[in-house]
Amino acid sequence: MATKQSETNSYYRITIRGIVQGVGFRPFVYREAKTFGLSGYVKNNSGEVDIFAVGPDTAVLAFVESVKRNKPRLSFIKSCEVRPAQPPKTEFEDFIILESGTATEPAIRFFSPDLGLCEDCRREIFDPTDRRARHYFNTCTNCGPRFTVLKAFPYDREKTSMDVFPMCEKCAVEYTTPGDRRFHAETVCCNECGPVLSYKRGDDLYSGDEAFAEAVQDLKAGQVVAIKGIGGYHLACSPYDADAVRNLRVLKAREEKPFAIMFRDLAAIAEVCEMSREDEDLLTSPARPIVLLKMKQEKRNAFTQAVLNGADGRCGCFLPYTPLQALLFDSIPCLIMTSANRSSSPILKTEAEIFALTDRVLYNNREIVRSVDDSVLQTFCGKPQFTRRARGYTPSPIFFSGSVKAEKPILALGGDLKSAFGFLQDQTFTLSQYIGDLENTQVFQVYEAAIPDFENLFAIQPRAIVCDAHPRYFSARLAKKLAAERNIPLIPVYHHHAHIASVQAEHGLSRVLGFSFDGSGYGEDGTVWGGEFLLCEGGNCKRVGHLATAELLGADEAAKDARKTAACYLRALRIPNPEPSKGEELVYAALDNHINTFTTSSMGRLFDAVSAILGVCQTNSYEGECAILLQYAAEAEARAGIAPLEMRFIPESGLTFGYRDIFEKCLTRQPGAALGFHTAVCEMVSSVCLQLREAENINDIALSGGVFQNVFLLEMLQKRLTTLSFAVYTNEAVPPNDGGLALGQAYIAAQKL
Ligand code: ZN
Ligand code: ZN
Ligand code: FE
Repeated sequence: MATKQSETNSYYRITIRGIVQGVGFRPFVYREAKTFGLSGYVKNNSGEVDIFAVGPDTAVLAFVESVKRNKPRLSFIKSCEVRPAQPPKTEFEDFIILESGTATEPAIRFFSPDLGLCEDCRREIFDPTDRRARHYFNTCTNCGPRFTVLKAFPYDREKTSMDVFPMCEKCAVEYTTPGDRRFHAETVCCNECGPVLSYKRGDDLYSGDEAFAEAVQDLKAGQVVAIKGIGGYHLACSPYDADAVRNLRVLKAREEKPFAIMFRDLAAIAEVCEMSREDEDLLTSPARPIVLLKMKQEKRNAFTQAVLNGADGRCGCFLPYTPLQALLFDSIPCLIMTSANRSSSPILKTEAEIFALTDRVLYNNREIVRSVDDSVLQTFCGKPQFTRRARGYTPSPIFFSGSVKAEKPILALGGDLKSAFGFLQDQTFTLSQYIGDLENTQVFQVYEAAIPDFENLFAIQPRAIVCDAHPRYFSARLAKKLAAERNIPLIPVYHHHAHIASVQAEHGLSRVLGFSFDGSGYGEDGTVWGGEFLLCEGGNCKRVGHLATAELLGADEAAKDARKTAACYLRALRIPNPEPSKGEELVYAALDNHINTFTTSSMGRLFDAVSAILGVCQTNSYEGECAILLQYAAEAEARAGIAPLEMRFIPESGLTFGYRDIFEKCLTRQPGAALGFHTAVCEMVSSVCLQLREAENINDIALSGGVFQNVFLLEMLQKRLTTLSFAVYTNEAVPPNDGGLALGQAYIAAQKL
């Protein structure tokens, strides 16, 4: 469509905000402008795209509509402002892409997360005639690293860790040719000009294709190899090789957690796991997360035992997301790919760190600016649930629906476990990547340093800080320090209120009945809460009921030893323990004298105790192990058609529920007990909902807290409550575990300020 001579030209400034940088937005705008015969320019300002459009009114407006409708697949338009402008001093002869400028007014900045290898780039690396054949760092406007290579805004090559790789002539031509797939792709490079692959084996050093071949040979020979990825290093080895997996566990400091496995393609996953449509969509999405999938019954022993360590009800699966991985998995169908770190330390991202850990390293000379772990999700009832939100999602914003918004920027510090902080500006919440457990000093250092990193990157100056109410949380102490240094208000928020508020924020619910089922969390009376029924309205919260409390042993070890936890519950109920374990007398002595004990209404601890009593799992060798195995046991019983053993929670007073019947029935260890326990939890929740529906006139139910990572329980509850015509809401954008606390905290703080 050419500009008609008869129509006079008008001038417009168009400002587009959202995820518009690093996703091929400027080249797209350029092509659209050409299509509509406009002249003018497009440029990146800090976090926004600025367009000056010259042409007849009808053409400019059609252009704007087309931009909104046909925007690049990975972009997101939060707002699009069109206003008339003054004619420039000299007329534009053409439409051009300008160098980046600086935004004139403060705006909320958005940026693209890292994107998995796209189909076009994948085809090129496997095409021997292509000039990017076997190019280990192939990217285009639709794929490649983004957040992990960004040093500062605006997103230009000089502001990324690609700055040290000047483009060769051919790449420069592609970069400057409108219509090319690599037009203004900031990470573009090729075999001539990009980063170089290296392999270090002890004192031997290999480069390029030779490096690749040597690493593949070592992997096939059963070695553990460290491989540099997008947000950090992986440790890789065959899941079929018992010796290799044992060596890997030694490297990881004997961490017991199941390992995730990367597979060549969906077909390779389908051989061992069950997958729904939603699972497939997640696995192949540009984020390429780890997805927890049910192992096929007959394939539960497919891998050597130490891979899943008995937790063989699920396997964390993911697909190659870098060109290097795609090439690697062309000759190897699957490998354990676990983040390279020592148990509960931060993921390693530099050569210095990884060389100190292991002597077989496949690496390159592109710097990882910030470490970002692989994301972990699972699906239930067709919906996604995050266990860990990081690569591929961070820093994509989460938008509040509903009317709650921040008058001024708020920093929310989250909790100490699975820590992640976030910033709320207006209704836009930017959550940091999963960082880890703050009791580890190195993790705390990463966490503390990441806050100013986000503040600088996104140009945010928080005017209030919100944190967990727990006085001894590391995150809460840091909040106190930061608030004092900056002389801004500090708002403490109760743990379980924040869990439920995270669901309210996601779904725009001003009033809900929330169930926060969790391992722990500081409560309003100073005891440890975790089996809470909360009526949440606006920024307020009322505890309307809870699990009965018990006194448990407080030492760190007690949370690990589920047998001791079980002994404490039995003691509290005055039920004799038929199978007392060693040291039981000491447990009783400690309880009787209240030495190092605490009072709790925790649902997580109750799962531990039941798991131990049923002989499912006695020890949490990693967080949640007893509860996870109890879930798998219940699933196995359901699959085998075993009827749930009849047991129930009985109200002691009001909506405080006791569990004497649960323990008495579980001690019989009859078939269907694991399933019966899940059913009893489900029935308790349903009965609370039914009682409060009339009394409180409430129909919206929110479920959150770490216990709801048990998707078997969640699915059961969702179905039960839906049958009773309740509207059930869960976390879909953040984890229900403590990784989602920051969102809830910000939602509450915005209303308290
Ligand atoms: Zn691509
Ligand atoms: Zn090149
Ligand atoms: Fe929690």
